[in-house]
Amino acid sequence: MVQQNQYDVIIIGSGAGGGTLAYKLAPSGKSILILERGEFLTREKENWDSREVFVKGRYNNAENWLDATGKEFQPGQHYFVGGNTKFYGAVLLRMRREDFGELQHHGGISPAWPLGYDDFEPYYTQAEQLYQVHGERGIDPTEPSASGPLPFPPISNEPRIEELAGDLRRIGNTPFPLPVGIMLNEADRHLSPCVRCSTCDGFPCLVDAKADAQVVCVDPALEHSNVTLLTNAKVTSLKTSPSGRSITSVEVERDGQRETYSGDVVVVSCGAVNSAALLLRSIDDRHPNGLANSSDMAGRHYMAHNNSAMMVLSRRHNPTVFQKTIGVNDYYFGSDDWQYPLGHIQMLGKSDSNMLRESAPRLVPGRVLEEMAGRSLDFWLTSEDLPSPENRVTINSSGQVVLQYSENNTEGHRRLVNKLRGMLKEIGCEGRLIPRSVYLNKKIPLAGVAHQNGTLRFGSDPQESVLDINCKAHDLDNLYVVDSSFFVSSSAVNPSLTIIANALRVGDHLLERLR
Ligand SMILES: Cc1cc2nc3c(=O)[nH]c(=O)nc-3n(C[C@H](O)[C@H](O)[C@H](O)COP(=O)(O)OP(=O)(O)OC[C@H]3O[C@@H](n4cnc5c(N)ncnc54)[C@H](O)[C@@H]3O)c2cc1C
Ligand code: SF4
Repeated sequence: MVQQNQYDVIIIGSGAGGGTLAYKLAPSGKSILILERGEFLTREKENWDSREVFVKGRYNNAENWLDATGKEFQPGQHYFVGGNTKFYGAVLLRMRREDFGELQHHGGISPAWPLGYDDFEPYYTQAEQLYQVHGERGIDPTEPSASGPLPFPPISNEPRIEELAGDLRRIGNTPFPLPVGIMLNEADRHLSPCVRCSTCDGFPCLVDAKADAQVVCVDPALEHSNVTLLTNAKVTSLKTSPSGRSITSVEVERDGQRETYSGDVVVVSCGAVNSAALLLRSIDDRHPNGLANSSDMAGRHYMAHNNSAMMVLSRRHNPTVFQKTIGVNDYYFGSDDWQYPLGHIQMLGKSDSNMLRESAPRLVPGRVLEEMAGRSLDFWLTSEDLPSPENRVTINSSGQVVLQYSENNTEGHRRLVNKLRGMLKEIGCEGRLIPRSVYLNKKIPLAGVAHQNGTLRFGSDPQESVLDINCKAHDLDNLYVVDSSFFVSSSAVNPSLTIIANALRVGDHLLERLR
């Protein structure tokens, strides 16, 4: 069959942003081409094998990038249909209302977004429906107002986590049910697609019961005959018209062959680092510094959060299977002894001895690791990092991605870690808090790019931003971006729900444009 190469819309990347946009546009009947550099992730027993996933890195298929000193590292991200949502913990939090405004942090100012919470609210509601979020409103003290309830009830706490939640409440905290996108039906377990297993956070779901972008968006979009997906299709550059104002062709490397496609509208959604890299690699006479970069802003303001994965070895056993059920936001905006934001705490997926083996000295016997894993409680702490023009993506002369990042705004995060340590001590979870770097599968902090965002920020001033408020490039008439690149600040919650909500919002704009 001859491959059509002219489309109404080309979407590059099928993760949280691109996959969601494809779902939104599919019923329009417009011809839509999704170009995805990865394959469908194979469903196999190894999906749930922590040795395969965490120790052997079976699905770590990203190429090496370089840090500011030229040292290579493998970023903790994955190229598959569905993008990084195939591996995510599916915690789907809204940014707080205040996160959309200017916020004073200890390390500086978190700038205001060009749109407010109320502009995103309807799309957050749609995103929660689409990604089947389980949870309960009204408990999280920092939760913004919402126009409707969450579509599914909260995931229940297993006994050790219920006990932890009770202990935290006793000392004045407000643990709340984490909003999670998994298809668990606890009322009728025999009908539940999700089997509530211990290998969810950081693993692909063998039974397709995680609400990832492939399962809830790309697969349904492909049921429409006007939607085409090409896998193994890596976009290498975008070419423009003689005026330089529109993208005329999309250059692709597919199974070792070069191919060219064109679309009336081209949407880039490769993840914040790769989207910036693609634009910076697309150089021509009209765009000597890369596309959409007349302001010299493309690639700058990279953010990834100040994140820590922490494990406490409690005296009590912790036989929990699905641990990611509670969060604490009491210190999101400050604490009794600190006027600046600290951040967000959530449970992590449960550690097992294979994950601990990665960071333990080689001589530690397996039974000791088993014992440790049997007692561990695992936490993920996120604090905001601030956008700095010097934290940026560039391309070196060989075309490799260089990621330059210096940590900032770290004092609030340090205090959040200490706060958690103090809370656990107070409730008698004595033992040691140790960094669980194995979660990132590397000890290089820069490689932990799971929450990457901000490299092509949106705004109304073309001198200060790359995209306009519809996420169209200021410099081009038909180029859009719908992944996490558009973020102006990173907030301290996981990014996906905001990416999804924004893709739905931009989808409405595109439907209007394509009419
Ligand atoms: C282990 C882990 C746990 C996480 N847990 C959570 C969580 O609980 N909650 C949360 O909100 N977020 C979580 N995240 C982060 C979340 O997965 C990302 O924020 C989200 O997937 C980003 O969406 P995106 O559309 O920006 O990019 P991605 O989902 O990364 O999608 C980008 C897509 O573009 C493709 N691509 C890249 N370059 C090209 C190219 N040149 N040509 C064609 N295709 C290309 C990639 O293969 C990929 O499919 C987690 C991430 C990881 C790794
Ligand atoms: S907990 Fe449910 S959604 Fe997560 S991997 Fe297991 S079966 Fe899949």
